[in-house]
Amino acid sequence: MKLQELGEFGLIGRIAGRVSPQKGVRIGIGDDAAAVEPTAGFVSLFTTDMLVEGVHFDLAFTDPRTLGRKALSVNLSDIAAMGAIPRFFLLSLAIPKELPVEFVDDFSLGLLERGAEFGVSLIGGDTTAAKGGLVISVTVIGEQSPGLVVARSGARPGDRVWVSGTLGDSSLGLEQLQRGERDGPAVAKHLDPLPRVAAGLKLAAASIPTAMIDISDGLLADLGHILELSSTGARLSLAELPLSGHFREKQPAFTEDLFFFPLSGGEDYELLFTAPPEKSAAIEALQRETGTPMTAIGEITDAQGLSLFLADGSEYRAGRRGYNHFVG
Ligand code: ADP
Ligand code: MG
Repeated sequence: MKLQELGEFGLIGRIAGRVSPQKGVRIGIGDDAAAVEPTAGFVSLFTTDMLVEGVHFDLAFTDPRTLGRKALSVNLSDIAAMGAIPRFFLLSLAIPKELPVEFVDDFSLGLLERGAEFGVSLIGGDTTAAKGGLVISVTVIGEQSPGLVVARSGARPGDRVWVSGTLGDSSLGLEQLQRGERDGPAVAKHLDPLPRVAAGLKLAAASIPTAMIDISDGLLADLGHILELSSTGARLSLAELPLSGHFREKQPAFTEDLFFFPLSGGEDYELLFTAPPEKSAAIEALQRETGTPMTAIGEITDAQGLSLFLADGSEYRAGRRGYNHFVG
C-alpha cells in the first residue's frame, strides 16, 4: 500500500495500533494533547533531537527498524546524561510521499521495541508530508528527584574525568559504511547505539558525578561543554582512552592518527562525567554491578583549557574538535 492511499490519519492509526496502554498515561495518542502522571516530588526533564535524512542518516546504510531504534536511543542518551529516568516520548515525522508504508511500519516497530526495552511510552506526535527527505523528531520526557539531576556545570578542580564504554567505534563504523562495509561491531554501534540509561541512573542515585554529558559530538567537543559551564580546565592522558580491540585493529586503515576518531568522532553515545577521587571505589563497584565499563582518563584542573598528554609525557595537538553543524 502507498502512503497516499493510507493518508495521515491512517498512518497515525497504524502507529497508535502498536502502542499498548502504559503506566502513568492518562490520555495517550488520539487527543489534542497527552496527559501523564508525574511521580510526586520529581522534576520533569525534556529533551528533543531531530534526525534529518542526508544529514544524520543515509537510507542506503540503515534499515528502517534500526533507524527507529536509533531515533529513540539518541534521545534516551540525553536523559541518561542527566541521571534521569526516561518515561514518555513524542514522535514527529515529515515523510516523503513515495516512502512505502512498510517503511513506516518497520520504523515504528524499531522505535517501539526500543521504547519497551527502556520502559518509555509513546504518547503522541505530529505527522506531515515532506517535500524533501525524511525528518524524524523525537522528544523524550524523563523525571528525577531534583537533588539527583546531574548538570554539565558542576565539575571541580581535582575531580577525575571518566568515560563509559569505548570511544571512536561509531565514527569508525560510519567510515566503514562509506567504504561499502556493512558488518562488524563498529558499524553496529554506529547504526544501533545503546543509550547508557542504567549507568547514568545508578551514578546519579549514588550522587557520584559532579557533572555529566553524553558524547554525541566527540570527546573534545563534549568535554569542552563541561569545562565551559564549570569554568574549569582539564588534562587528559591519551594512553588511558578506552579503545576496543576491533577499533585498534581496523583504525590504521582509515586514519594515521590513532586518537582522531576517539577524540573528535561523533555519536559514541557514551557517558562522560566528572567525580571526586574518593568516589573511584564506588565507580568500580557500580561498573561491576551494571556491566558498563568506566575508565578514568584525566582530571579537572584550575587552569582553564584542555591539555592532552601522550604516554611519553609530551603534549598532543588535536586537529578537528568534533562535529559542529554549519561548520566544516
Ligand atoms: P491536531 O491536529 O490536534 O494537532 P493531529 O491530527 O496532529 O492532532 O494528531 C492526532 C493525534 O495523533 C494526537 O494525539 C497526536 O499526538 C497523535 N499523533 C500524530 N502523529 C503522531 C505520530 N507520528 N506518532 C504518534 N502519535 C502521533
Ligand atoms: Mg498536530
